[in-house]
Amino acid sequence: MSKSLSSILASSSAILALCAGCGKPKPEVKPVSDEPPKPLVMVTESSFPPYEYVENGKVVGVDIDICQAIADKLGRPLVVVSTNFEAIVNALERGDADLAAAGITVTEERRENCDFSISYATSGIAIISLKGAEYKDIDSAKGKRIGVQGGTTSDNYCTEEIGEIPQRFDTPRQAAEALKAGKVDLIIVDIDLARNIAGGDDSLVISSGLLCMEEFAIAVKKGNTELLAAINETLEILLHNGKVYDSLAAHVAHCAGEPPPAPAATPPEAAPDSDANETATAQ
Ligand code: GLN
Repeated sequence: MSKSLSSILASSSAILALCAGCGKPKPEVKPVSDEPPKPLVMVTESSFPPYEYVENGKVVGVDIDICQAIADKLGRPLVVVSTNFEAIVNALERGDADLAAAGITVTEERRENCDFSISYATSGIAIISLKGAEYKDIDSAKGKRIGVQGGTTSDNYCTEEIGEIPQRFDTPRQAAEALKAGKVDLIIVDIDLARNIAGGDDSLVISSGLLCMEEFAIAVKKGNTELLAAINETLEILLHNGKVYDSLAAHVAHCAGEPPPAPAATPPEAAPDSDANETATAQ
């Protein structure tokens, strides 16, 4: 081999060696840190069984199971803080919480102030009346004293669809107490909650069909696309492997004082490959 050819080959193999890693992603260099992972702060309103309720001083429920799975995926401990429903989106905007889950219905109006995950549950709202004084539809509710939890979709529905300014309460339980005390004629609440309230009280009845259908999703601060992607990824798995359904069934049964139902069969292709599989088990 001529000198010039061998030196060309030598320099090209050096270039090849240099380029061996070209096009491949560089291995991630993680800074070594003794710092514990930052908590993932979830904001909720804790009087919305089966999605959130307090038991032994702790907030539990479907939304907590889901957010625990998201925190596990991120390797961060979950911290749950509770506030009034109306203050939830503000808490995200101020950076006091990373994500909000409270049976929050996706609405276009709310999309102006926060971003939503994919939907994880379908719900709706309905009327609860006193047994024997039942309001079955929005026409019969017109001109009546209506109680709602402030800032909820029931509140909006009352104002926009029925055309009545409702009496607003901090919690749906307070609205139900006002109904029983004769301070309002009917209340409008989410259907799962209505089942919980009326199911445990002989004097109350769900007196209408669903007034409208709604979708629940998890909310994050506007523009927090990274967290939203992790939330959506986890939700896809939990919806696919039946864990959201299992959690809902277990909390509904628990709130009704019934034994836990058998978990739904797991589709075989969804079984082993997710951290979230192990973490969203209903308590
Ligand atoms: N789903 C209703 C809403 O988003 C009520 C939620 C709640 O009271 N936690 O307005």
